[in-house]
Amino acid sequence: MTERIGSANYTAGPEALLSDSVIVTQVEKAIGWARKYSIFPYPFATACCAMEFMSLSMAPYDIDRFGAALPRFTPRQADLLIVIGTVTIRQAPILRRVYDQMAEPKWVMSFGACASSGGFYDNYTTLPGIDRVIPVDVYVPGCPPRPEAVLDGLMMLQKKMQNERQRAFRREVVEPDLI
Ligand code: SF4
Repeated sequence: MTERIGSANYTAGPEALLSDSVIVTQVEKAIGWARKYSIFPYPFATACCAMEFMSLSMAPYDIDRFGAALPRFTPRQADLLIVIGTVTIRQAPILRRVYDQMAEPKWVMSFGACASSGGFYDNYTTLPGIDRVIPVDVYVPGCPPRPEAVLDGLMMLQKKMQNERQRAFRREVVEPDLI
């Protein structure tokens, strides 16, 4: 029973007993909440940005606080592909295969200028952005990005995970245009 006194609501009876121990929500929201705090990243690290990625595990940044501390080096156990560094045209099919081997739901972070656009490499060997071969959920700018920027990108991604419709198959697979 809820009584209204002045501008406040006061709960009495069984509701008062349960109010501290029961949470009512929607299944989609609960799944989103669980997913965003249990991220298993797969670091596809190829170049100097990887040093910056390592610093995320150190005490000043402590990516563990976001539930994303344990890197997995098999795509079967990962749900966040973090592409870190320059990707060459020859590596593109490998990146695509790693992405395809990850189970749904899965997300992709493009870490740094090289992964996002090829960076300052304007030549025939460098992939001008990983979104030519796999879909990207969040781009983190910088050469290399500051760890704070990566955490910012991670929080944006967590917001996306929370608000996404939790369906078995997330999206149409984009066919790569370079491989
Ligand atoms: S963005 Fe800069 S730091 Fe990162 S891989 Fe490219 S050149 Fe290296």
